[in-house]
Amino acid sequence: MADHCTWDDDYKQITQKIRAKLLELAHVSEKDYTVVLMQGSGSFGVESILTSAVGEDDTLLIIANGAYGERMADIAEHAKLNYLMYRVKYDRIPSADEVAHLLSQHPEITHVAMVHSETTSGILNDIASVTNVVKSAEKTMIVDAMSSFGGVDIPVGELGIDFIVSSANKCIQGVPGFSFIICRHDSLAACEGKARSLSLDLYDQWKTMEKDGKWRFTSPTHTVLAFAKALEELDEEGGIPARSKRYYDNNRLLISEMKKMGIRPYIDNEYQGPIITTFFYPEHHQFSFQEMYEYIKDRGYAIYPGKVTDADTFRIGNIGEIYEEDILKLTAILKDFFAQMNAD
Ligand SMILES: *Cc1c(COP(=O)(O)O)cnc(C)c1O
Repeated sequence: MADHCTWDDDYKQITQKIRAKLLELAHVSEKDYTVVLMQGSGSFGVESILTSAVGEDDTLLIIANGAYGERMADIAEHAKLNYLMYRVKYDRIPSADEVAHLLSQHPEITHVAMVHSETTSGILNDIASVTNVVKSAEKTMIVDAMSSFGGVDIPVGELGIDFIVSSANKCIQGVPGFSFIICRHDSLAACEGKARSLSLDLYDQWKTMEKDGKWRFTSPTHTVLAFAKALEELDEEGGIPARSKRYYDNNRLLISEMKKMGIRPYIDNEYQGPIITTFFYPEHHQFSFQEMYEYIKDRGYAIYPGKVTDADTFRIGNIGEIYEEDILKLTAILKDFFAQMNAD
């Protein structure tokens, strides 16, 4: 519960320790990769990469099968970047063959960006096959792994991803306040002088942080301390493999308990990720999401509204200190709720 300020030596050491630990979690070496911490929520991290890496003479291909892919298009639009879209239905994964085709049709493309775990639906996109195609074509690969990094093991170095971003409050289970970007040294060096924004300049942020761990502008010190603790807790749990197993087990249990009530997931089993699940409402339901939300909240849990555009759905997330017991309690609460709604 001690306070630190951005200038404090001990605090700067904590920042450096976090950066080193994130390299380890990404399975990359200090020789090839570096980590930049960036103030703000996850979107600030995504915006930092896109507006720092994609220069005036560059063209970005954005792959989208959900709201977070569309947010990248929104960022590109605001920053007036040259960009193209490859859109896929929200319940389908992008195809590496199609990406290869687009790269050959559009030689002007220099960068490709995609989401790993599309939190919109819960689908887990195949970043390995797409990155393979992108790196074979010698383009820069950018991955939004916001809701997967730490919960799904990602061999960042082996895949050759140039920039991968996540934030403090997702699978590392910290509290909100900053994002982190794992960058290949040579790809980051290519960003020098390109940024469209001062505060989100990825290269300048790195340059200051690299000296001795001091953040360029005031940092969310309390959030950073909490994140250092969250990284220790991840180790205590058994690292990414153990956390990933817990998320997968919870997710499978959740889906099977929901199926017993006749409630189906929106994403096919083959593509369903372990992070969050979108469910269709029971047939002929009369209640609103708000009624269901409040009933559950009164009993100690919170769920999400649906976010897909083509179906009426709700979502249940797995990230955080959630165990088998919670899944069973939550599904029992839902069962009571549906029984009560049917009786009314
Ligand atoms: C959470 C999330 C983000 C960032 O959202 P913020 O609200 O800015 O933290 C971006 N992409 C994905 C896939 C996410 O799950």
